[in-house]
This record gives sequence, C-alpha cells and structure tokens, in this order.
Amino acid sequence: MKKIFAANWKLFKTPQETRDFFSTFKDLANKATGEIVFFPSAISLEAASSSLKGSNIKWGAQNCFAQASGAFTGENSAQVVKDLGGSYILVGHSERRKIFGETDALIAEKVAHIQSLGLIPMLCIGETLEEREGKHTFRILETQLLLGLANADKSKPVVIAYEPVWAIGTGKVASPEQVAETHADVYSILEKMGFAQSPILYGGSVKPDNAKGLAALPHVSGFLVGGASLEPKSFSEIASV
Ligand code: PEP
Repeated sequence: MKKIFAANWKLFKTPQETRDFFSTFKDLANKATGEIVFFPSAISLEAASSSLKGSNIKWGAQNCFAQASGAFTGENSAQVVKDLGGSYILVGHSERRKIFGETDALIAEKVAHIQSLGLIPMLCIGETLEEREGKHTFRILETQLLLGLANADKSKPVVIAYEPVWAIGTGKVASPEQVAETHADVYSILEKMGFAQSPILYGGSVKPDNAKGLAALPHVSGFLVGGASLEPKSFSEIASV
C-alpha cells in the first residue's frame, strides 16, 4: 500500500506564507515515497488550492460541518473544499475533541457527510496519558472507531490517524514498541468492523530523525505531522523515508 504523509498546519501560516511554502516544497516533493496531503487552516485553503493546481500533491481542510450549507455561523463547508479541488478532510483531531468539545456522534455525522461528497475523511483517534497508564488504550480506541465510523460507508475510502494525545506537540514520540502494538490493535478492530483496507497513519511528534524507524513498522501506513510539517525541508525529509 502506498504510504500517506499528511501535514496538519493547525492555525499557522497566512495565505502568503502558504504560497511561499509551496514554491519551495514542490521541488523537494519529487523524492516523496508516497502520497502527500496538506491541511492548511481554512483561510489559507484557496492559496493552497491555487499553488497546488496541476501537481499531484493533495490537500484538504482540518475540519468541516456535517452539512454543506445553512445557518451555521463560523463553520466550514466540505462542499466548498470539494469545489476548490480538495480531496481530504481531517475529522476528530484531539484538539477539536478537547478544546471544541466535539463528540463521537458529531464526528460520525461528519465522516458520513464527507464521504457522501466523494471526499476522504481522515479520522483521528487516540488515548490520553491517563487512559494509557490506566490500561484503557484498547477500549478507548475501539470506542472511538465504533462510534466515529458508525455511519461510514465501507465501500468508500476512509483513513485513520492514530495519534496518542500525550505525543501531540509534546516532543514525546511513542516508542516503536508502543506504535507497533497499538497499530496492530487498531488494525484488528478495523478488520472486525469491515474496514481492514483503511490506511492507519501514526501522528505525534514525528520528526525526520524518527520517521524512518516508525515507517518500517507493520500496519504503519504513513504519518500525520504537525510541527515538523511547517518547514519544507523537514516535511520533505519525512515524506521521503
Ligand atoms: C498533530 O497535530 O496532529 C500532530 C501530530 O502534531 P505534532 O507532529 O506536532 O506532534
């Protein structure tokens, strides 16, 4: 399976910074060993769309509402992402769950809506440190998958990003043993649910110096990268492992 290297830019980069990034990155991307996907912040999506036109680099939004239009002040429309040429939408990132109170039920509605438009949801799941230390990781991930994919169409693509919350933006990457064990668990849950074909990305403090070892582990289909995706050089190194 071709690997996927996805960049979550969170609330960083203006439209001009987005254009500047791609004018450097497009040359570096020639060495990539898989598909590359960028998730710029909403107001920079059009800059990404025009910068990436004609390239094989994909992009999408970090969030959307579960309906295409209506009286939903401040929300983003997946239909607009589609019209601009986007391919993916990130759903259920731990920052959305924690800071904005997103529930698994809302996440499930978003997943179904994104698929219905022909876009690909990238569903983020992950346990907190407390949950890992309490040995609840398997149960938490199983619940997030069962509820988050409750309305998903098995015949359409969906990508899973396993991101231990304690490893996001902390510099604390999960050990290769933890990643291998948890990805095997996630795969077994997905297989039982009929989603065995879904790629499982790892996310959480991925950097050029740890990417190669993690990419070689079974059931690691690529990465979702925050901090290290903000620089063209470090992200292109990760995407070339
Ligand atoms: C993320 O935001 O999804 C992420 C994994 O961030 P970082 O790589 O900075 O830990």
